Amino acid sequence: MPNISRRDFLKGTAAGALGAAAAGSVGYLLPAAAQEEKGSFDQEYDVVVIGLGGAGACAAIEAHDAGARVLILEKQPEATHYSNTRLSGGYFHFPDPEGDHAALVEYVKAMMSGENCPWKLEGEQPHVSQEMAQMYADGVLQVRDFLMAQAPDLDPAFMEPGGSASFPMFPGFEEAKYGSSKIARYVNYTQADASLRPQDQPRLTKSAGEAFHWALVEDGVKTQRPGIDILYETPAKDLILEDGQVVGVVAAGKDGRELRICANRAVVLASGGYEYNLPMRRAFLEGPGVKGWCFYGTPENTGDGIAMAMKVGAGLAKVGKAASRIEVAVPYGEHYEKEGLKMGIASAITSAKNSMIVDNYGNRYADEFIITDSSRPFRYQFYKEALMYELLTMSYPRVPSWLIFDETRRAESCAVATGYSVAAYGLVPWSKDNLDAIERGWILKADTLEELAEKIKADPENRDMITAEQLRQSVETFNAYCDAGEDKDFQRSIDTMAPVITPPFYAMKLYPGGPNTKGGVDANAKRQVLDWQGQPIKRLYTAGEISSVFKFTYQAGGNLTECIVCGREAGKNAAAEASWTGHDAPKSDKADVKLTATSVSQEEEIAQVDLADCKDGVYTATAQGMNGNFDVTVTIDGGKIATVQVGGHNETAGIGSKAIDELPGMIVAAQSADVDVIGGASVTSNALIKAVKLCLVQAAS
Ligand SMILES: Cc1cc2nc3c(=O)[nH]c(=O)nc-3n(C[C@H](O)[C@H](O)[C@H](O)COP(=O)(O)OP(=O)(O)OC[C@H]3O[C@@H](n4cnc5c(N)ncnc54)[C@H](O)[C@@H]3O)c2cc1C
Repeated sequence: MPNISRRDFLKGTAAGALGAAAAGSVGYLLPAAAQEEKGSFDQEYDVVVIGLGGAGACAAIEAHDAGARVLILEKQPEATHYSNTRLSGGYFHFPDPEGDHAALVEYVKAMMSGENCPWKLEGEQPHVSQEMAQMYADGVLQVRDFLMAQAPDLDPAFMEPGGSASFPMFPGFEEAKYGSSKIARYVNYTQADASLRPQDQPRLTKSAGEAFHWALVEDGVKTQRPGIDILYETPAKDLILEDGQVVGVVAAGKDGRELRICANRAVVLASGGYEYNLPMRRAFLEGPGVKGWCFYGTPENTGDGIAMAMKVGAGLAKVGKAASRIEVAVPYGEHYEKEGLKMGIASAITSAKNSMIVDNYGNRYADEFIITDSSRPFRYQFYKEALMYELLTMSYPRVPSWLIFDETRRAESCAVATGYSVAAYGLVPWSKDNLDAIERGWILKADTLEELAEKIKADPENRDMITAEQLRQSVETFNAYCDAGEDKDFQRSIDTMAPVITPPFYAMKLYPGGPNTKGGVDANAKRQVLDWQGQPIKRLYTAGEISSVFKFTYQAGGNLTECIVCGREAGKNAAAEASWTGHDAPKSDKADVKLTATSVSQEEEIAQVDLADCKDGVYTATAQGMNGNFDVTVTIDGGKIATVQVGGHNETAGIGSKAIDELPGMIVAAQSADVDVIGGASVTSNALIKAVKLCLVQAAS
């Protein structure tokens, strides 16, 4: 690509049109005269949203519905777009509407700020908490209806209000009827094919974060509101501040070219937390934040929005907060290779039978069950327990901690989550029988506890602390408690306990960490970003984990809930700003489509596509295979499928590659993509078949 300066780029319509194409054929180029006049913007919108997770999607939906012309900038490529929202468990909050509203405000305020708790611990946010609690208490009651409006095929059975909230000691607990966490699932989730990864499930069998993401991003934004433009692979780099107000965004276009985008009304920062930003982790996280923490969401959340906001004068709030406990971490991935940041994975067995947790000395230190128990208030605060500082040795003896388990546990289930988080999505390899993790050394294996202690000791992060005697004693005591039916040290519920007794024995390191950071940019109830004096920075809004409202504590499901509540609030208020240019961006000519439970969704569109409707041409779609993406190109000639070609791929030789060798010929012979999958290669087969169908949809549209 020739190196065209922006000045050249902006001159004349032809160059402008080139810019539009480079940017993904969306947006409106300002007329040349207007470009000069405005200090040269390449594109013009009313509201620019940075980041397409749950928060960004909701902000965009709300701003669009309020009449604004909206652009979303997303850093990741479309085919491999895995936000934290998508990788998540899909839990959210929907309190009982019959609950007392004033009590609801108090209960929410306690989670956000804690200052109305009698003991008044950390978390206080008196400059924003009252209004914020009111805004949230109103918004949270609309969460279910909003979700269902985006995706009428979600199963309402899992969204009934009720159940017990997590914090009985908080004001308003009884009267507020806040309720337990709900989960997003499409109606046919029970028919999901367990051999498929979450992202490969057909729409109606999706569940958890995949369903939450699909409802908001694919259904809510893309299908229902095609007028919202999205630029993938286009990270925002800077906010443009003029005369004390944010007037636009600088982004890096797909081809590396700088794009300056005018935001007539406002910008919404929804680019997630700083989980994979090394200097921010070093600066903000307690304990050894760089080597001693792990996160199990997208490695693309690198605190970009926090950095951009700071540059225009934003204040920060409780930046060291995280929704965290202790989790599995592995030396894997780009951030590990480049910066030594381990990749987290959600563990599935931290509180399971035939397992227990010890510190670096080999001592148990807590009731392991509270680490995963959503019905109690400790779950996402457990990292604080693990960060206990030992004054006399000036060290953190619980970093890392060690999950000790036996062969019964190893054989029983996968040690990491298979329905969500990075391993489920194939971003970190982990076989269901755990054997590859043992092979890689991510799980230590030994025939005796003594040998296991030696292996732990050999790990530099043990810092020579464990003794075989201590580990053996801890295991024997734990097993004796299992036999006696009572955990005399930590009162772990006996139903969750079984002895660690059957060799071989295993040890897996656990670090403080979890889904996401929560602290970041300070913001008020309108979701305006605040400066250090608590004053709004004009035309700058925010939502999501970059500015989480839960500064004191957090009930499982709160982050996705705030994506909806705060994302909508930010989008609505951003769209309500008066245009600084004095006019609005031209409206999109793409008509909105309201999705109903019976209307044509993408899956159904794919299912219904008829070759007879396809126009001749060459069409390409990306398939998400077992080991990454590959392109599939279909040529339609004379109304027939002439060829199906597969581009470069990494599918496993002799397994996935069989599907790639055989399916194209089968599809051409059948003149249909409805062919049988190749045995043993179902993931690759389904991916290839779906890509062919997507090509046919393009050809028919
Ligand atoms: C495995 C896992 C399980 C979880 N389970 C739950 C749960 O069940 N319930 C719950 O409430 N919470 C859960 N969470 C937390 C919750 O998912 C997140 O806090 C929430 O989804 C954050 O939403 P967001 O929109 O703020 O950020 P994200 O969903 O992470 O979206 C941020 C987006 O911004 C993009 N981006 C980053 N930088 C830039 C840039 N410079 N320019 C443009 N785009 C950029 C990213 O690529 C990403 O797509 C879980 C998290 C994880 C990782």
